[in-house]
Amino acid sequence: MKVAIVGMGVAGSYLAARLSAKNSWEIHAFDGLSRPDSRCAWGGSKYELSKLASQVGLDYSKYIFFEGKNLKVIFEDAHEIDIPLVGLTTFDKNGFEEDLEQVARKNGVAVHRGASVTLKDLSGFDVVFDATGVYRNVLPKLKNDMIFPNLEYRVEYGGSPPFRDFTVFPYHGLGGYGWFFPLREGEAHVGGGDRFHRQKQYVELFMRKYGGVPKKTIARPVRMLPPSMCEPIALEGNNHQVVGVGESIGCVFPLLGEGIIPSLQSVDVLMDSFSGCKVDVESYRRGLRKKFFYFEPIFRAIIAKWKGNWAAAKAVPGLIPSFIKVKAMEKRFGFQIRLTDLVEIFNST
Ligand SMILES: Cc1cc2nc3c(=O)[nH]c(=O)nc-3n(C[C@H](O)[C@H](O)[C@H](O)COP(=O)(O)OP(=O)(O)OC[C@H]3O[C@@H](n4cnc5c(N)ncnc54)[C@H](O)[C@@H]3O)c2cc1C
Repeated sequence: MKVAIVGMGVAGSYLAARLSAKNSWEIHAFDGLSRPDSRCAWGGSKYELSKLASQVGLDYSKYIFFEGKNLKVIFEDAHEIDIPLVGLTTFDKNGFEEDLEQVARKNGVAVHRGASVTLKDLSGFDVVFDATGVYRNVLPKLKNDMIFPNLEYRVEYGGSPPFRDFTVFPYHGLGGYGWFFPLREGEAHVGGGDRFHRQKQYVELFMRKYGGVPKKTIARPVRMLPPSMCEPIALEGNNHQVVGVGESIGCVFPLLGEGIIPSLQSVDVLMDSFSGCKVDVESYRRGLRKKFFYFEPIFRAIIAKWKGNWAAAKAVPGLIPSFIKVKAMEKRFGFQIRLTDLVEIFNST
């Protein structure tokens, strides 16, 4: 049996590590980049990331750069709210992906770096996984896709960063937000994503106001559609399957553009539906809907807010029941989940 994994970002490298641990199939993994170079702010909950990393024998604590205590939300009229954090960290995502890749290589996966491939290059494989992230380069493109432009700098501050903890700046109309994510001492990711494409203007304003030396520029969009709106999540031919994981099939929490944990979780869901070198696609689809039950209501609430209809946003079917369940998942998210904060964010933007 031959398996191809296209994309060795966080979803693809974790999938390669997990699949190769138990199976003796011939597994090939491809990535266009010569080494991991994660275009992301590297934020996520240490509790959930520790659980996921331990599935492949890695110790998440080794990758942590910074653990926050308080998330400050600063609105455009300068009023602020504080959200207590429950294990929200930034971490060395490139190092984590390198180690996932090493686990896979040790288990016999053939990793082809600097290799951008398409489905045409992969005849002869029984299963092809699309782990190409927002670009979805293997599965068919989505007709009504929604992707959000982002701009981010890795910034050095010397001894005096402008903020000491996680800080975010929601933009008018909830069109997006800016962020300051501390990394190692004196270093942070400063970025912004905005559906009105004002991210450059906002990020440059931040840089002029607070200084710092940009060391790296990252510009890449993020997908907003939940998995239920990213069909097809799989294609089935007579002799082979093509199956998506991670951001390629919308595993990104729409309110925050948070995709690391959902992308890893999608691999766990996939593993539950994969046996005999075949994915039970219906079971995978059900698993994704169950795992990410809260994505679609929040997505619909954001769309209602964008249309200027906050009353409709509050009335989105499933929003309140989802919120009640999500409240029990603070360690998954890395912060306290309070209805008052959500309402404040929707009301004040
Ligand atoms: C600016 C920014 C900041 C973000 N910050 C955070 C954050 O702080 N926390 C969080 O949880 N999420 C964040 N996200 C979202 C998160 O980065 C992604 O959702 C997540 O990394 C998706 O993982 P993935 O493995 O599915 O895709 P990716 O990480 O994008 O990996 C896809 C891989 O596929 C490769 N590839 C693509 N096409 C081909 C091809 N044809 N052949 C071979 N290889 C190919 C690419 O080179 C890449 O390595 C951020 C996103 C952006 C844009």
